[in-house]
Amino acid sequence: MEDAFGHRISYLRVSITDRCNERCHYCMPQELQEWLPREGILSYEEILRILRVGVGLGIRKVRVTGGEPLTRRDVLTFFRKLSQVEGLTDIGVSTNGTLLDTEPEGPGKSMAHHLVEAKVRTANISLDTLDPDVYHRTTGRDYFDRVMRGIEAAKAAGFEKIKLNAVLMRHQTESQLVPLVQFAREQGLLLRFIELMPVSTRDVLHEERFLASGKARTLLEETFGTLVPRPDYKTNGPSSYYEIPESDGQLVGFIGAMTNLHFCETCNKLRLTCDGKLRPCLGSYLEFDLMAVLRRPGVTDGEIADFFREVVDRKPKEHDFRTDYTPNRRMIAIGG
Ligand code: SAM
Ligand code: SF4
Repeated sequence: MEDAFGHRISYLRVSITDRCNERCHYCMPQELQEWLPREGILSYEEILRILRVGVGLGIRKVRVTGGEPLTRRDVLTFFRKLSQVEGLTDIGVSTNGTLLDTEPEGPGKSMAHHLVEAKVRTANISLDTLDPDVYHRTTGRDYFDRVMRGIEAAKAAGFEKIKLNAVLMRHQTESQLVPLVQFAREQGLLLRFIELMPVSTRDVLHEERFLASGKARTLLEETFGTLVPRPDYKTNGPSSYYEIPESDGQLVGFIGAMTNLHFCETCNKLRLTCDGKLRPCLGSYLEFDLMAVLRRPGVTDGEIADFFREVVDRKPKEHDFRTDYTPNRRMIAIGG
């Protein structure tokens, strides 16, 4: 599938739940806690059908996200079935890390271990700070130690790649930049800093909390010296990577959705929300009701494929965050 601007679509990001065990203020503020009813959420079988059709159209990579995907019931059964979808070559999960060290099927094997056995290649783990108090304030939960154990469990389980994602927030991340880089280095993990996007409610997300990735880079350079651009290094996403000088090649990524004017040029993604909307772009209000099509009696795979193609045809050239910094799209439901 190719859109009108030559983006070849091979990547589907699938949100399997809008629920979460944390309350990050930039994603899901305290007051927004009414969940979607169960029948309003795609079943695992429905998601798998959509994916099989998607693979026929060129989807090769899927990242499972949420809400917190690992909170959904029977999530391991889902991952095991996902790994049997022929043609998918790359399965990843985005998680807050709090459940990776739990043992959902009895003692001896962690969630992370089960995921690796289910052929999940990469784990993206969110970690905005190394200060437990700041962690508590940001996520609404005192789960910092759980995340640390989760990271250990992920390393022990043997994912091919583990990435740490930190959202950049002014007046908060500045003091965390260097410690996070040092932590990633000690742990041997790939760290990326993500610019805050307007995907929460207006009252929690102010432009004055915004910290540009260029500014974060400058601050890091005060400690490490000039970072060296590494345009040759790619991870199938919009991150720009830089090498930390005299670090044995440690890379740090920046996801600059707001300030990188080339951000959308290499976009290869569609998003499926947990309530069955297909979204051609995270940063646009456009969404199309695939659940309605899917639940039409007798609908064929061909009709689902036609729907996919129509959505791809409507994929915008670039997101509209820069022209319309109006929060109100809930990341928790869209899936980051
Ligand atoms: N619960 C999982 C987690 O936290 O990683 C997966 C879902 S979460 C919505 C996916 C990613 O979106 C996380 O890395 C999170 O930090 C990021 N995110 C959430 N709200 C954001 C915002 N307003 N701007 C930028 N990134 C955001
Ligand atoms: Fe939950 Fe992840 Fe959103 Fe935080 S960023 S509230 S952990 S879904």
